[in-house]
Amino acid sequence: MSDEKSEPPVTPDEITRKLEDFIKNSLGGQVLFTKIEGPGMRPKGEAPTGDDADEAGPPSEAEFEFHYKPADIKAYLDRFVIRQDEAKKVLATAVCDHYNHARMIREMRKGGGQSVEFTKQNVLIVGPTGVGKTYLVKHIAELIGVPFVKADATKFSETGYVGGDVDDLVRDLVTKSGGDIELAEHGIIYLDEIDKLATPSDRGGRDVSGRGVQTTLLKLMEETEVPLYAPNDMRAQMQMMFDTRKGRTGREIINTRNILFIVSGAFSGLEKIIEKRQARASIGFGAASVERPGGESLLRESRTKDFIDYGFEAEFIGRLPVRVVCDPLGADDLFQIMKCSEGSLIRQFEREFAAYGVRAAFEDDALRHVAALAAEEKTGARGLVTVWEKVLREFKFELPSLGLPELAVGEALVRDPAAALARCRAQAEVWQSDVRAREVNEFAEAFRREHGIEIHFEPGAVQALVERAGREGSGIDALCRKLFKDYPFGLQLVARNNSQTVFHLGREAVEEADKHLSDLVSRSYRAAAAHE
Ligand code: ADP
Repeated sequence: MSDEKSEPPVTPDEITRKLEDFIKNSLGGQVLFTKIEGPGMRPKGEAPTGDDADEAGPPSEAEFEFHYKPADIKAYLDRFVIRQDEAKKVLATAVCDHYNHARMIREMRKGGGQSVEFTKQNVLIVGPTGVGKTYLVKHIAELIGVPFVKADATKFSETGYVGGDVDDLVRDLVTKSGGDIELAEHGIIYLDEIDKLATPSDRGGRDVSGRGVQTTLLKLMEETEVPLYAPNDMRAQMQMMFDTRKGRTGREIINTRNILFIVSGAFSGLEKIIEKRQARASIGFGAASVERPGGESLLRESRTKDFIDYGFEAEFIGRLPVRVVCDPLGADDLFQIMKCSEGSLIRQFEREFAAYGVRAAFEDDALRHVAALAAEEKTGARGLVTVWEKVLREFKFELPSLGLPELAVGEALVRDPAAALARCRAQAEVWQSDVRAREVNEFAEAFRREHGIEIHFEPGAVQALVERAGREGSGIDALCRKLFKDYPFGLQLVARNNSQTVFHLGREAVEEADKHLSDLVSRSYRAAAAHE
């Protein structure tokens, strides 16, 4: 007991620091230490509160609840995602099936009942880039409150450390859920560019890494257990040792049974495979080729065999029973995205300008023109960002300093941003003069209130004040108070001498304020004397 007491307090952070120093000194920084969050660690985003912060227990793991209907999810997606109705419906249904099954199985297990068969509803989305595939999945995860992790499948074939990396996706879910393993086990893993894992037979099976990743993913998609602490992560391993020493026996395994996998890819070349199959079938059965409704993508007619011919393992593609196609977006769709989506880029621009007090109004003709330009980029809605960035680049830099209260973004601005910006600069000058002219009148009004004497600045005086304020970079009120500091007393003398209470000040009153006042005063004395 006494031994334990005399033991110095050693935390994983201290050990890591010492080890990092040691390794850096001996290996010159070739080894990296990563940091993961997990049970027994602080929930994500929560700052340590002192020495005892390490004592915080694992985050509470409330049971994951699911209570949506497919139509609820579709309605939610409609607010953000334009088109892709089929994908919305299919995803909404697959997600509901998945989570309802997960709940039922949990309840049965709890009640000691017999488990039921459950085929996972992992989803394969086929569609070009930038048409809303990630956007759909992200919003579904957001709505139902589960963590969501996205990665490109190509990442795994490149690193060579295939197994470890794929498992990291699952551990990332734990990080995203703030260490809540139960929630992470109901998360969504989204893998894009899955088509790059295909190893077509005509490549002679050279590309074994794609096949290797397919096999590893297969295990995850089915059901497997992933260690919470990556075996090759020094810090994570030490955290585990530390937890065990402290007598914390939290869960160290993440089960992938209830994790929903959604994979996607553009699958260029798949249409040809489908076409060939259909042609063969029509010859075989002596029938005419299948009629497709106008404009419908041939990809909608894909079958499992087509994906196998494309280069996928039958077992892999078999684990993706739900397949759906996302359509390319035309200029009209891109216009609708800007105009109607709650996540529209335009709202973001409006907020950015509003931060500088500029009310930006995006007109429909501008949106249509940008939509047409973006459609030419052939990168889906991503093209919108590219086009707008170019159009608004200089405006975003300069407008905050011009002091204009409004910016009308019309087609002319999109066509020739430089000319439009030049017009804004000219407008800003006029606007600034107007503002200053108003301030001149406000000074006169304040003068009347404070001293009971009416002064009126003639147009020449207003112009002279505005010019001088611009030249000197000073505010109108400050300039007037400086120039006319003796006027309250002086004009009161004049008023006493000849009962004059209204004064019209011309340009000369601004150019030689003191001389003008003394002339007024002396004239009033002379007039008073003549009167007597
Ligand atoms: P991908 O299909 O390659 O996964 P994303 O879903 O990441 O493309 O789309 C990129 C961005 O473009 C999204 O964040 C979103 O702002 C916008 N976007 C793409 N498609 C749509 C759509 N159908 N409706 C609304 N916005 C969209």
